Amino acid sequence: MRWERYRDGMHPGDYDVADIAQASETGRVPADARIDDLLDSAYRRALTHREGTVADYIPILGRADPEAFGVSVVDVDGGIHSVGDTATRFSIQSISKAFVYALLCEAVGHTDAYRIVGVNNTGAPFNSVVAIELNGGHPGNPMVNAGAIATTALIPGGSAAEKWDAVHAGLSRFAGRALDVDDEVYRSESETNQRNRAIATLLQSYDRIRCDPLEAVDVYTRQCSLLVDARDLAVMGATLADGGVNPVTGERVVSAEVARDTLAVMAASGLYERSGEWLFEIGMPGKSGVAGGLVTIAPGKVGIGAYAPPLDSAGNSVRGQIATAYLSRALGLNIFASASHA
Ligand code: GLN
Repeated sequence: MRWERYRDGMHPGDYDVADIAQASETGRVPADARIDDLLDSAYRRALTHREGTVADYIPILGRADPEAFGVSVVDVDGGIHSVGDTATRFSIQSISKAFVYALLCEAVGHTDAYRIVGVNNTGAPFNSVVAIELNGGHPGNPMVNAGAIATTALIPGGSAAEKWDAVHAGLSRFAGRALDVDDEVYRSESETNQRNRAIATLLQSYDRIRCDPLEAVDVYTRQCSLLVDARDLAVMGATLADGGVNPVTGERVVSAEVARDTLAVMAASGLYERSGEWLFEIGMPGKSGVAGGLVTIAPGKVGIGAYAPPLDSAGNSVRGQIATAYLSRALGLNIFASASHA
């Protein structure tokens, strides 16, 4: 089954938040009670939306409850705010790409990560093969499947097992707990990921993957099958918001420079070909996954984790986007918003 099936879902720009006043950017988030109130309003506003389609090109994902919905906000002091189904677990899918990219930047440095994987939006769907060809074999950026598989392939390790251990341990540090693989999701995707195997083999033909490409896809598929909940995503996001230190465990996971670089790439391409609309409405780096997860980061302030399985036609959670857009405006999180200095 092909992804193109979903390309006639929700229309771009339907965020339903244009009437929410943009709160002034103050460099700080409001007091806890205010965050709880606004989080509740964001949740209720998004709950009225029933657009979107649950992905089933990975067959098991089609079993997700389309009504499941939860949002968490974690601030850089480790304060946690939650509403709805924030303890429901789902596979992290593409959201893993941002955090594995951070691990790669930490391991190989700014320049090599830029040179090898790239930082520009492809303008194409996340699993595009055409985009690779149009770029002369370059994967484009780490947020699409080609760049993500290339990223995982570059994670230091003498074997696929060692790479997996590094990815698993690193993502668990971002979440502040040991994450488990959902074996059913892993098997379901492994049986149906011919397209990702084709992408990896194509990248090998361009000398962009130097280890066994199918082993790289296998590690990538495992990383996508890690189980998280909305609260985990908020903690992972808050770690990037807090200069690379997990604000709940206090552990430094990556350097502040790596957190900065990762957020820049997420801003450019975290919501695939919808990244421009996302920045226009929400004004923060974010990353979506096809199981319905969405993480958004207000640097120096908060991480937001959302879960709602129905997706727009680019593969981004509809309710997750609407709740996040509301919070961006109501909490004053848009990184492009300023009030006059005078
Ligand atoms: N594992 C999924 C895939 O490779 C991830 C895609 C996504 O979340 N957008 O197709």
